[in-house]
Amino acid sequence: MVASNSYLPLQEEVARLASSPQLRAAFERFRAQEAQFTLWQMEATRVAAPPFGEAARGAWLADRFRELGLIDVQVDEAGNVFGIRPGFGSRFVALSAHIDTVFPAATPLNIRQQGSRLYGPGVSDNGAGIAAMLAVASVLGSARIAHTLPFVFIGNVGEEGEGDLRGMRHVFATPRWRDAIAYSVVVDGAGSDTVVAEALGSRRFEVIVRGLGGHSWSDFGAPNPIIALARTIEVFSQTPVPVTPKTTFNVGVIRGGTSVNSIPESASMRVDLRSTSMAEIDRLERALRAALEQAIGAENRAAAQHGTRKAQVLQSEVVEIGNRPAGELAPNARLLQVIRAVDAQLRNTAQVQRASTDANIPLSLGREAIAIGGGGSGGGAHTLQEWFDCNGRELGLKRILLTMLTLAEIGE
Ligand SMILES: [Zn+2]
Repeated sequence: MVASNSYLPLQEEVARLASSPQLRAAFERFRAQEAQFTLWQMEATRVAAPPFGEAARGAWLADRFRELGLIDVQVDEAGNVFGIRPGFGSRFVALSAHIDTVFPAATPLNIRQQGSRLYGPGVSDNGAGIAAMLAVASVLGSARIAHTLPFVFIGNVGEEGEGDLRGMRHVFATPRWRDAIAYSVVVDGAGSDTVVAEALGSRRFEVIVRGLGGHSWSDFGAPNPIIALARTIEVFSQTPVPVTPKTTFNVGVIRGGTSVNSIPESASMRVDLRSTSMAEIDRLERALRAALEQAIGAENRAAAQHGTRKAQVLQSEVVEIGNRPAGELAPNARLLQVIRAVDAQLRNTAQVQRASTDANIPLSLGREAIAIGGGGSGGGAHTLQEWFDCNGRELGLKRILLTMLTLAEIGE
């Protein structure tokens, strides 16, 4: 047991921990076991984990958790994999990494190594996170480090795209975990130079306009879904957005119609609204709905005045296709102070960033959470050319371990 001394200022506490024999031994193992971490990373990445198809990779991870001596290893009904390192007390420090990728099931997973570099889809996002989680679990066991608060390791599903954070959402909707996780450290991708402490919220919609359609000549004057949609975009895109809190919108996909001489039966678009403030996202959603209503009304009125043969009106539907809550860590949050002290101790420079990660869920519930990288460096995320470089992995691992132990030691 590394004895806790809560009278020490945080920076001294971190320095004392970092120079303890147990931590020195752990840091040495991070260096010595790099080949093993690389192997895990490549193995994990070779098991396909498309959105909504993470079961095989989850089973692989559960086996590693058991091998590393984690207890109570379980896969929940969403597919999230849990393993525990016991401590004292009922509140947990969570270390999580998403196991899903953006790549469809048929994507060839040609994962290869050249020197310190690994190549292949998903190797960094989130092969680096999975490898970091296993490295930390492994070293805690082999260096026999005890800690006050227990740790829960989570390989969660559904972070990417249409997964819409469903894995993490499920963890924090589960009575066992909702109130038990005091701190969440999310490892996503490579690097050691960022701390995501602000959750970028987003809400996504498919807007569909439907009518009866008709012939461009003989039914002229019938309401036209494409024109109504275009009017909606025209009005909505003039909605003012503040610089602070940063708020954005995008119309990313537009579809509709069948041929040049047909009045379309339907038209649709996909809209992405983002902000660090939920209130701004709500306001944009209201503006979108109002613009749609206005455009449909105008198109229907124009058709009525034209006195078309077909008495018809347009219908519209707004379907939510994504919803990631916003939130942020309070400036005086313990987790933010701890990661800053750890970075100072490791002489690491990191910037606080805002992004959409698994940390959105705990942050939106007012819990302390950050997302950081698994060390090393990487690039080409979400492409087949993705790569990860193992150089500097050690720094990322030290950072995660020291953060978790500092959080865990200052128990209840
Ligand atoms: Zn990721």
